[in-house]
Amino acid sequence: MRGLGVSNGLCYAKVLLYEEQPIIITDDAKNAEEESHIFKEALQVVYEETLALKEKALSEAGKDAADIFDAHCTILKDETMITPIKEIIRNGSSAVKAVDQVLSDLIRTFEEMDDEYLSLRALDIKDIKDRLLRKMLGLEGINLGKLSESTIIVAKDISPSMTAGMDVKNVAGMLMESGGKNSHASILARTLEIPAIVGVDGLFAKLSNGDMVAFDGETGEIYTNLSKDEVEAFKKKKKAETDRKAKLSQLVHEESLTKDGQKINLYCNIGTPDDVAKVLEKGADGIGLFRSEFLYLSRKDLPSEQMQYLSYKKVLNAMENKPVIVRTLDIGGDKEVPALGLKKEENPFMGLRAIRLCKEKKDLFMVQLRALLRASTAGNLHIMFPMISSLDELRWAKSMVAECREELQSEGIAVKENLPIGIMVEIPSVAIKADLFAKECDFFSIGTNDLTQYTLAVDRGNEAISSLYNHFNPAVISLIKMVIEAAHRSGIPCGMCGEAAANPEMLAFLMGLHLDEFSMTASALLEAKALARELSVKECEEVVTMVMNLETADQVEKILKDFIEKRRNKIC
Ligand code: PEP
Ligand code: MG
Repeated sequence: MRGLGVSNGLCYAKVLLYEEQPIIITDDAKNAEEESHIFKEALQVVYEETLALKEKALSEAGKDAADIFDAHCTILKDETMITPIKEIIRNGSSAVKAVDQVLSDLIRTFEEMDDEYLSLRALDIKDIKDRLLRKMLGLEGINLGKLSESTIIVAKDISPSMTAGMDVKNVAGMLMESGGKNSHASILARTLEIPAIVGVDGLFAKLSNGDMVAFDGETGEIYTNLSKDEVEAFKKKKKAETDRKAKLSQLVHEESLTKDGQKINLYCNIGTPDDVAKVLEKGADGIGLFRSEFLYLSRKDLPSEQMQYLSYKKVLNAMENKPVIVRTLDIGGDKEVPALGLKKEENPFMGLRAIRLCKEKKDLFMVQLRALLRASTAGNLHIMFPMISSLDELRWAKSMVAECREELQSEGIAVKENLPIGIMVEIPSVAIKADLFAKECDFFSIGTNDLTQYTLAVDRGNEAISSLYNHFNPAVISLIKMVIEAAHRSGIPCGMCGEAAANPEMLAFLMGLHLDEFSMTASALLEAKALARELSVKECEEVVTMVMNLETADQVEKILKDFIEKRRNKIC
């Protein structure tokens, strides 16, 4: 079985299926006084429980987790919710019916909100509604606050109060049928460092209480019916992971310096503002890629200028003055935005994607640029354009930024001067002519995910040809070298935000080429730091010479692998 890994870690434990009894709303009111009493009592008990959850979250998971319950307490005391419920009860309805009606309306209002953060709050209100209803109907669920042994909680979905009310020391992992990367359950799982997977179809049909299950919260793989030997092997892997993590975490406050004392800039890739917590936790030097299109995905409408402005500002503020490279919309390819109603294409990766789409839909692009420029004064913003294939596109995109800047200034809105503007180098036409582009950019960031697919004509998502998709291919590594050298000839920095930046074998090669910034998923950062500390730039320069004249991807990979293996220590 497989799902979406949302909280890293290996887990092997006994399954507990958490299935709540369904809430059935009835309207058999006793009398108004009695119904009002039922409501008030439930409200008070749920409020007190929430206060207790808040304290528990504060001591176990920190302020961010506690804030969720603080907000729940505020909602439970909110007269704009309480008064209409009382009114409906006075008019003859049952307490259960009144609560259901008022809170369901409130949930709908939040769900329809433009702002992603606010629309997600509908989940909090649903959590409160369910708890009030369960209390009034006397439906007690399984008590997750008292687990006798290490357990994997398996549920359709897990609400914030369930997560925080859990006996965390005995929760080995969580598997959910629904949920997204940024649902509260996922955020809390990451905060509590509980491995978790969401979006697994048919969990309840495939698992039973007491089954022993292993899973990997990073890859989303779930293993059932393991043999004795497989269990032993998994446990060994887990023990090694625990030991290694403990050692890696000691590096958070260490500088990422090579053996010969050179600083290696380690940045993170993010998709939403919530991802910044991890970036800070790992002590990254900056954000090398904010995939802004994630603000557009998985929603029914388009995010407003204000919603985007708040998102960018939040990230910039949190990163203080560290660089934050926001990539403008990279929609198309495998990333669809339902609200745009785009036509299906035969070849979406080579079609109306990213900057090409922004050119077609200038208004869409302008909304994003306005939001970015408004947020520019909040920190060290860098703007990056994706899928640039010609100088014309670059010049057009830069002219749009200039137009937006003028527009905002005429409205009296401050915009930061000298904002660095750069491009993703991910199309061979740009890599080959990188010298020309470097003269008109403030920085480059190499997108190896696309550069590899376009150089080798191998669709990055096609399973059938995945063995051909290889960033060690001599043509790809030659292009990478050309791009970094071209940037340096023009005196601009060159980073990398494709997956190759996190590849341990690539690290030596890229360090030898003096790549200025390595941007990767937060969970890979400390490992890269540990490895960089074992290498010297001087010896990495030699490895570059060794691989440049090789003929096949296998030969390149072998040389780089051997080089790294000799220098790896216990933690990297
Ligand atoms: C890339 O192409 O390397 C990249 C980082 O962008 P994405 O994976 O979002 O296309
Ligand atoms: Mg790309």
